[in-house]
Amino acid sequence: MRSEFQRPRGTQDILPPASYRMEQIRRIAIDTAAKFGYDLIETPIFEQTPVFLRVGESTDIVQHERYSFTDAGGVDLTLRPEGTAAIARAYVEHGMFNQPQPVRMCYYGPMFRRERPQALRYRQHTQFGAELYGSSQPEADAEIILLACDVVEQVGLKNPLIRLNSIGCSQCRPSYRKSLIEYYQGRHQELCEDCQTRIHTNPLRLLDCKIDVEIRQQAPDIQDYWCEDCRAHYQQLTTLLTEAGRQVIRDPFLVRGLDYYTRTVFEIGHPSLGNQTALFGGGRYDGLATTLDGPEVTPAVGFGMGIERILSAVEENFPLPLKRSVYVAHLPGFEDAAFVLAENLRQQGFSAESDLLHRSLKAQLRDANRRSTVVVIVGGKEWEQGQVAVKRLGESEQLTIHQDQLSEFLRQELTPNP
Ligand SMILES: [Zn+2]
Ligand SMILES: [Zn+2]
Repeated sequence: MRSEFQRPRGTQDILPPASYRMEQIRRIAIDTAAKFGYDLIETPIFEQTPVFLRVGESTDIVQHERYSFTDAGGVDLTLRPEGTAAIARAYVEHGMFNQPQPVRMCYYGPMFRRERPQALRYRQHTQFGAELYGSSQPEADAEIILLACDVVEQVGLKNPLIRLNSIGCSQCRPSYRKSLIEYYQGRHQELCEDCQTRIHTNPLRLLDCKIDVEIRQQAPDIQDYWCEDCRAHYQQLTTLLTEAGRQVIRDPFLVRGLDYYTRTVFEIGHPSLGNQTALFGGGRYDGLATTLDGPEVTPAVGFGMGIERILSAVEENFPLPLKRSVYVAHLPGFEDAAFVLAENLRQQGFSAESDLLHRSLKAQLRDANRRSTVVVIVGGKEWEQGQVAVKRLGESEQLTIHQDQLSEFLRQELTPNP
């Protein structure tokens, strides 16, 4: 039996060094977004439940995987399962549609879904996402996709793969939907249990069933149903991405899980993961803000990337920032002097630590070897004469320098080579 004093099922404690990798990815993602002109926005980790109900009523996430609760004031709240709905809510609530368009935003933070625990599916996971509001042009879709690719490259996965599709618009999708339902009705008996329900609730998702892959091969292809505008949009988007030097594949089975997509849907993968494995995805959702009482026409396009997934794909190749710090060791009786020197160095901007356990010099040096770049040894007659012994990590040679010159020495030792 699981102890009630263990972390909740499906969650993780992110310990060092993984925690530093996470932090670095966060910085890379936000900086890359800034390069494209996207501003960071932070929304609460919970919203009033209707925000999510309105945008994703028929999805598994909203139906079965919600963490919802009623607070002491009787308000129905939900921990956010994804970022897009909350950003749409904020866009409408702050009247951002009155600002000069487009509005470019990015977000980073934890998301919550009560998923069945399995590899890389956490009930709390971290997402970075970007949203572009106010342009219905294919250039907007292209920019979002290029930003997504750039983040992936910046964390070390060169030449990402874009799988692309258009699921049409309110003009052309209904007739496709009709044909799709007819086709699947004809093979109703062969469908898996989920798909027998999906055919009524979310027929497009029949195409991304992992079980009925054989049946979809003969299903009608949406590109034969695209209206002229959808076709032109898709073609221009492909042209822009190709001209920008990106590799694009059309995937007729790519539909994405959420109801609110219009036209563009995409997934970003990497050749090292195989052609069918996605790292994350996104798309266009022109109707989303409108369902949250936004203006009649609110074009929007974006993506959300699970950081744990990205991290698992790059882990081996992702360098940790080099730790450059000072360990202030002491000879017996010089604990105070070492403690104060460490603080002194920190005040000068160095990263410094001291023993705190009254250990022998030998034990301190062993510890220092694990944790620091330079060791300073305090005590003995050197100390009385205004000197300290210093040692570089991994070198046995010990230097004696004057205390006045310690800062200058450390500055040279700890500054990364250009
Ligand atoms: Zn259309
Ligand atoms: Zn199925």
